[in-house]
Amino acid sequence: MTTPFKTCPCCNNAWQTRSDFLADSSLEINGYAPDFDNLLEGLFFFTHHATGCFSTMTLKADEFADLYTGEKYLERKTGDEDCPRLCFDKEDLRRCEELCECAYVREIIGVIREHPKGVIAEQVVGPLQ
Ligand SMILES: [Zn+2]
Repeated sequence: MTTPFKTCPCCNNAWQTRSDFLADSSLEINGYAPDFDNLLEGLFFFTHHATGCFSTMTLKADEFADLYTGEKYLERKTGDEDCPRLCFDKEDLRRCEELCECAYVREIIGVIREHPKGVIAEQVVGPLQ
């Protein structure tokens, strides 16, 4: 028995793998709280829109870091003149155009949001298997 990737703290629904989690259309990423000291410690907030459940859970950016394989910038531009300050608004999940070290975490969010949704394994019942 392996530990599920994530379990909903409210309804106890378990997502065995990250793929299941990303493919579940009942999950919505709706927040990002950056950790400016260690970007991969930043938290993503997911709300579970399931029957009887409207719980929000958090996962570290680290869990999804490998989803983005594009360019990363080394320089930190947070708070600079050109910084759109997206990272200061927890609910603003837009990609950032700035050549800033923090921007790639927002790219990861983009990948999560655009991940194709489908029926996850846990919801398949009956003699199909
Ligand atoms: Zn739930």
